[in-house]
Amino acid sequence: SNNLMAGKRGLIMGLANDKSIAWGIAKSLGDAGAELAFSYQGEALKKRVGPLAAQLGADTLIECDVADGASIDRLFETLKEKWGKLDFVVHAIGFSDKNELRGRYVDTSRDNFTMTMDISVYSFTAVCARASALMTDGGSLLTLTYYGAEQVMPHYNVMGVAKAALEASVKYIAEDLGKNNIRCNAISAGPIKTLAASGIGDFRYIMKWNELNSPLRRNVTQEEVGKAALYLLSDLGSGTTGETLHVDAGYHVVGMKAVDAPDI
Ligand code: NAD
Repeated sequence: SNNLMAGKRGLIMGLANDKSIAWGIAKSLGDAGAELAFSYQGEALKKRVGPLAAQLGADTLIECDVADGASIDRLFETLKEKWGKLDFVVHAIGFSDKNELRGRYVDTSRDNFTMTMDISVYSFTAVCARASALMTDGGSLLTLTYYGAEQVMPHYNVMGVAKAALEASVKYIAEDLGKNNIRCNAISAGPIKTLAASGIGDFRYIMKWNELNSPLRRNVTQEEVGKAALYLLSDLGSGTTGETLHVDAGYHVVGMKAVDAPDI
């Protein structure tokens, strides 16, 4: 443990269970001395999130459905009443109809395109606007993205288009809020077996492919994403904004299947 986040207070959005990337990040921040609040989507998840938050000494749990602007407003009003100011926010939220995370991108429906963009892209912008109003001593905003934003990955489809928009929005938000000493970054994580990932077609194959072909010849863990998040959210990352940091065992630099990788 370390003191990199001592005296800092922040919100974690997107914790569903102990496999969530949000959990890897929360543990790393808690271990560094941060005081944490958690938002969760719907009452059903509260039973899961409560005990996890308690493990990190956190008892601030706030319901928030990011599809609803009033719900986001209530979240930040509650945090304002409780803490007055905020130092960081982690947005680990994405959603699309899993029937469209297989097959062809070109067949994406208008309704699911709009919903995927709303929940996976616009929600981060909406959160940043409200959070930045509470970041009176500067702050750091973080979201999660995937390589499917940059290159075509099987089955990622509309989510890849959404992540490309999310990465672009990180740059615009960095410019808007930089003069207030608020930084905005994304982590592009390699594939990790989570609830959201299980909705993607052939996800086991994608994980195996990444394991065999990434420079480190393995997949990354939620703890490794947590360590990178600690860098971006703490003073260690004070010079970094508008960035998409890859935590993917190096997979994004590879241009060809590894010569030592067996056929799978
Ligand atoms: P997860 O299922 O544990 O987390 C997804 C979270 O999104 C859940 O907590 C869910 O409640 C929340 N969510 C969905 N719709 C919501 C809404 N309307 N309002 C509020 N919350 C909502 O899965 P995860 O893999 O930890 O996903 C976290 C983030 O990481 C996502 O943005 C995902 O795209 C990204 N990511 C995941 C991987 C991976 O391989 N798992 C790789 C790169 C990026």
